[in-house]
Amino acid sequence: MFDLTGRVAFITGGNGGIGLGMAKGLAAAGASVVIAGRNKAKAKTALAEIAALGGRAEFAELDVLQEASCKQAIDGAAKRCGRLDILVNNAGTSIRKPPQELSAHDWHQVMDTNLTAAFLCAQAAYPHMVKAGGGKIINIGSMMSVFASSYAAPYAASKGGIVQMARALAVAWAKDNIQVNIVLPGWIDTELTRTAREQVPGLHDKVLGRTPAQRWGKPEDFAGIAVFLASPASDFITGAAIAVDGGYSVQA
Ligand code: NDP
Repeated sequence: MFDLTGRVAFITGGNGGIGLGMAKGLAAAGASVVIAGRNKAKAKTALAEIAALGGRAEFAELDVLQEASCKQAIDGAAKRCGRLDILVNNAGTSIRKPPQELSAHDWHQVMDTNLTAAFLCAQAAYPHMVKAGGGKIINIGSMMSVFASSYAAPYAASKGGIVQMARALAVAWAKDNIQVNIVLPGWIDTELTRTAREQVPGLHDKVLGRTPAQRWGKPEDFAGIAVFLASPASDFITGAAIAVDGGYSVQA
């Protein structure tokens, strides 16, 4: 039910953080994984870590802010690997400022990275998944798909948007046997949140206080949900938003 042998997965931002946690899970379940991003040094370490687990992985250069890059990287990966079954839309960024201080450039940078690129990658993956007889698209939302904070207007807009985009794709592509779901991480210890902890006073303790599991999440916490949403075990689940948050979103 959870066997991904022979499947090919493309993970944007799979060279670090949550994306790498998912890539390791998918590789351990038998998939060939393509980790895609800009930072080659991070990718080199990530490939070595996946290989050490006995997984198969390669790196694809991708800058999701370059519109053509998504299609080129996905078409290239599908060609090299012979197919494409799984797409993880994970690449993401945030610019933390009060709304009145954000420039249009800041807005577009966050929206284009977190939302537009997810759409363009899904669009690029679609014909390959149709050819394969089906597929799985996993989108990374956030607690800010649901809640908001004073310093993250474009981030919250992009993460709210990715949920509705994913639901629309789920409805459109169910007939093609493509399931499109959303993972909503709580607060996870990665490069992204290390800078958040530096920039937002009191964040570390606030997260610990609000999270029933009493800890920050780890990238490894995303291996299981990635395998579940990429495997036949989730074939009748589409358009669902699943929190992986140690209980953060259900704490009163
Ligand atoms: P990281 O900063 O570790 O990972 C972000 C990844 O996105 C990097 O691997 C980076 O690759 C990639 N990326 C960013 N911009 C681009 C770009 N223009 N082109 C290609 N790749 C890009 O942070 P996380 O692992 O925390 O973030 C992963 C996802 O999880 C994001 O969507 C984030 O919003 C989401 N998330 C994270 C939470 C957390 O608490 N950490 C909570 C909720 C959601 P490169 O270095 O090569 O640019």
